[in-house]
Amino acid sequence: MTDRYAVIGNPIAHSRSPFIHARFAAQTGQDLVYDRLLAPLDGFEAAVQAFVRSGGRGLNVTVPFKEQAFALAGRRSARVEAAGAANTLSFDSNGWAAENTDGIGLVRDLTVRHGVALAGRRVVVLGAGGAASGVVLPLLDAGVRDVLIVNRTAARAVALASRLAGAAGPNASIVGRGLEGLDAESAAGALLINATSAGLSDARLPIADAVFSAASFAYDMVYGARPTAFLVQAATLGCPRQADGLGMLVEQAAESFRLWRGVAPQTDPVYRQLRDEIGRA
Ligand code: NAP
Repeated sequence: MTDRYAVIGNPIAHSRSPFIHARFAAQTGQDLVYDRLLAPLDGFEAAVQAFVRSGGRGLNVTVPFKEQAFALAGRRSARVEAAGAANTLSFDSNGWAAENTDGIGLVRDLTVRHGVALAGRRVVVLGAGGAASGVVLPLLDAGVRDVLIVNRTAARAVALASRLAGAAGPNASIVGRGLEGLDAESAAGALLINATSAGLSDARLPIADAVFSAASFAYDMVYGARPTAFLVQAATLGCPRQADGLGMLVEQAAESFRLWRGVAPQTDPVYRQLRDEIGRA
């Protein structure tokens, strides 16, 4: 019988996940279908229950439901427990299980696709929402030396840093502060990661020019046909290297696929197809 999977969110029409998973399934010979599910903003749990009743085996979860997905699951990995937000749900006879594959997706994209060495590096994460919370500990696990989380709402950055520091143990250096506390000195040589949703509306973040010139690599989790406002700013102001989040999207999907199906798909061909597809849109 064909197994059912989907990506659930609101909005969801823009999601590229069905494209990616259809190609992973074809490549690995897995018998599955993967759809988009639009859940009402006040109806996430009911939508998940209906999907499971209809035979659904797994969901990817996107904005704004990642925290609710985390709360609903009876089984949680250590990775998702630390993040407090889930992007992957699996349903089987043992119940609902939650996982977060964003961090491993980002780390693989940075290290394998873009050749970024993470060992001993400083990372500045812009944003303190679901995406930021999922990537900080995997970055530290990959050898990053310290992480500075900066956010428009300073209190959220401080709270997230303190929660993640508790989960990471005494040797981890994770600090949170407001966006206005980001200066060239704290960004010197850093990998600057935009995990805010500002890029979705092409809004420019209020960051000093000198921050971009001081950073060594700028990464935007948002992606599109053209470079985002954040990446244009970085390139214009002298940051030597930039990348968008398309590779992270494909890599986090591959990890979800592996968890569900027990087989790891090849990501590069799908990444290249998707880049072409987006360029034509
Ligand atoms: P979220 O939980 O809603 O968090 C949004 C974050 O963006 C918050 O920290 C918020 O700050 C900040 N923000 C929003 N608008 C801003 C603005 N105009 N100026 C400054 N800060 C602003 O969203 P999320 O789940 O973390 O996702 C963040 C982004 O990452 C989204 O664009 C999402 O599409 C992308 N993402 C990409 C991938 C991928 O695979 N490429 C994976 C996950 C997420 P406040 O706390 O002050 O509101």
